[in-house]
Amino acid sequence: MSDDCLFCRIVAGDIPADKVLENDHVIAFRDIAPKAPTHVLVVPRLHVPNVAELAATDAALLAHMAAAAQQIADQECDGEFRWIFNTGAKAGQSVFHVHGHVLGGGELGWEPA
Ligand code: AMP
Repeated sequence: MSDDCLFCRIVAGDIPADKVLENDHVIAFRDIAPKAPTHVLVVPRLHVPNVAELAATDAALLAHMAAAAQQIADQECDGEFRWIFNTGAKAGQSVFHVHGHVLGGGELGWEPA
């Protein structure tokens, strides 16, 4: 837990979010600025800065994130989705607590979220 991390504060319940899924490993909530009919952020409870570090240190937790992403897509967009991890500020990462963008529910172009 990092006091100055937005997603740690959402995980802790200090900041409200529109949650769609929650389990022992991850929470998922709707992006505040959606880029598709379904735009949900899958966030591990553990604070890890990015997906590469998560894969290197806790691959099982990354697998839990994937399972959550599929569950959300099954509920909202016929099981089909795009999963994006912006990694680094130049790639568009603005919150440095790993999160996968689950996008779906419409015709998606090539543009990233
Ligand atoms: P990224 O730019 O890949 O780090 O993604 C961060 C995402 O968090 C952006 O798509 C923001 O719209 C989203 N976001 C920022 N603050 C909130 C919030 N309070 N609740 C939900 N989504 C948020």
